[in-house]
Amino acid sequence: MNLIILGPQGSGKGTQARLVADSLGLFYFESGDFLRESAKVNPRIDEIVNKKGELLPDEEVFGLITKYFEEKHPTLENFILDGYPRSLKQYEMLKNWLLGKGKKINWVIYLTLSEDESLTRITARRICEKCDRVWNLVTNPPPAPDTCECGGRLIQRQDDTPEVVKKRLEIYQETTAPLIEVFKKDGILVSVNGEQPIDTILKEIVAKVA
Ligand code: AMP
Repeated sequence: MNLIILGPQGSGKGTQARLVADSLGLFYFESGDFLRESAKVNPRIDEIVNKKGELLPDEEVFGLITKYFEEKHPTLENFILDGYPRSLKQYEMLKNWLLGKGKKINWVIYLTLSEDESLTRITARRICEKCDRVWNLVTNPPPAPDTCECGGRLIQRQDDTPEVVKKRLEIYQETTAPLIEVFKKDGILVSVNGEQPIDTILKEIVAKVA
C-alpha cells in the first residue's frame, strides 16, 4: 500500500507517518528531513529551506526524490510520503511517474487542524540536538523543557521561528491546501481529526486505510 500524509505544519504528520510506517511495515520518506540534509552541503538549498521557509522548485524536488527512491526503494511499493507532494504540479509529476511504473498512491491521509492550533503547536516544537527526536511542549512534552530522554539538549528548528512559520503557513494555504480537493476528486482522501490524542489518531488511520 502506498500512502501520502498531509496536513498543516504542527498537525503531527511526522509523528503519525512514523507510527503508521511501523504499524504497516512501510518505507518512510520525509521530504523536509531529506532536504535539510541536502541543505547541509548546499548553501542555496539552506537559504530556501532553513532561512526563508519557502518551497524548492517543483522540478528540482521531483528530480531529487525520484533519484532517492530509485536508489533506496526501487520497488515503489509500500511507502508513506510525508511532506511530498506539496503542490498540484508535484502531485501530477508523482502520479505520472508512478503510473509509468505501474504503481499508484492508494490513500492520502489528511490530518485536520485549525490555523491557531497549528501556530501554537509549531512554535512549541523542539528537536534533540543529539538524537534528532522531535518533541512538542504542548502535545508530546519531553521529560524536561530543554532536555531529551537521551540527555541531549533540545533546540528549536531554524524555520520554526514565528516569522518563518507565518510564511510557511501562508504557503501551505496557497499551494498545498488546494490539493485536498484534488485528492477528494481522485477518491483517495481519508480525513482524520489531528486534534485528538496521538494513539487515537493512529488507530483511526490504520482502521481507515487497512
Ligand atoms: P517540513 O519539515 O516538511 O516543514 O519541510 C521543511 C522545508 O523543506 C520546507 O519549508 C521547504 O523549504 C522544504 N520542502 C519540504 N518538502 C518540500 C516539497 N515537497 N517541495 C518543496 N520544498 C519542500
